[in-house]
Amino acid sequence: MAKKDYYEILGVPKNASAEDIKRAYKELVKKWHPDLHSSDKAKAEEKFKELREAYEVLSDSQKRAQYDKFGYVGQPSGTEGWSGGNPFGGSPFSDLEDLFGTFFGQNTRTSQKDRKYRKVKGEDIYVTIWINVKDVLYGMDKEIEYTRYETCSACHGTGAKNGTAFKTCPKCHGAGVVTTRQRTFFGIMTSQSTCDMCGGSGRIISEKCPVCGGRGKVTKKRKMKLRIPAGVEDGGRIRIPNGGHAGENEGPYGDLFIIVRIKEMPSGIKRDGKNAYSETVIDFSQAALGALIEINGLEGKEELNIPAGTQPGTIFKLKGSGFPPVSGGQRGDHVVKVNVEIPHSLNAEQEELLRKYAEITHANVREKKHGFFRR
Ligand SMILES: [Zn+2]
Ligand SMILES: [Zn+2]
Repeated sequence: MAKKDYYEILGVPKNASAEDIKRAYKELVKKWHPDLHSSDKAKAEEKFKELREAYEVLSDSQKRAQYDKFGYVGQPSGTEGWSGGNPFGGSPFSDLEDLFGTFFGQNTRTSQKDRKYRKVKGEDIYVTIWINVKDVLYGMDKEIEYTRYETCSACHGTGAKNGTAFKTCPKCHGAGVVTTRQRTFFGIMTSQSTCDMCGGSGRIISEKCPVCGGRGKVTKKRKMKLRIPAGVEDGGRIRIPNGGHAGENEGPYGDLFIIVRIKEMPSGIKRDGKNAYSETVIDFSQAALGALIEINGLEGKEELNIPAGTQPGTIFKLKGSGFPPVSGGQRGDHVVKVNVEIPHSLNAEQEELLRKYAEITHANVREKKHGFFRR
């Protein structure tokens, strides 16, 4: 294999200055970048590699001197040149190394504060309770019982016996982080990560707390009395700060959330905020003559006064028969839509009376038919 003429590759004379070599290299690298030669990528890559090789040598005064003297660099004498690979053991991107090194270095550099053993808030706990509609109207006291992690008092949550049995982490020597240097295509990259041996605390437990087994937490049953406010919505949440699990590394407790579910509504009643809604059906005679009827209310049967002459679809409001607002104050209304039912069939006596009624009011009604079909 013929030895490569690096000066020829870069198109510079043998006495070219370092400046000239750099300028020529930059221009050629731009020209031969493989991304710009999609139709003949292989050739461009080959050329690109060649340029790097040439520059690697000619940009380094020591290597350049060796090359000028022996016609090759870094190979034991007698070896017939070299091709491909990387003769210098370093990255061919030596001048880019700094650039990328800095770039990636900044990316992986975390602030001293982040690396520290961080306090983490404990997890929240959700407890669902079911209450009756009556409890929504007046509110209630409820005792709940649940299990949570609490900070172990014997070791103050450290997991070490008496809270003191620690030794310095042998892997990170107490720093909490480990630094890794990695040779990559872009150069040497330095990254820091949390020490996996100590979890970033810089210390490891030399003797575990016998009470919690080194976890720093113990499970405890907890009972508490709770006031469920009147007017609570179905699915409403009550937050009890610090009622959740113990935190990590002396972090604060999580919160407890009570999810309030409301058992079945009285038949036919729907809720929208503080108002209750329902529909009822009355006979056409009740609509015409007026009546006092019973409907399903939130607290049992309720009376609804139907005035004479009530039209189908009339809305009535039972003031104060709805739900209390959760913010306190007057209860809402029970809104009742009244539908009027026309009889599907009449017996002989009913028909007789209705025909009489039609006659008096001069209503033009269908003649009575004898036999099977009345219509
Ligand atoms: Zn460590
Ligand atoms: Zn403990």
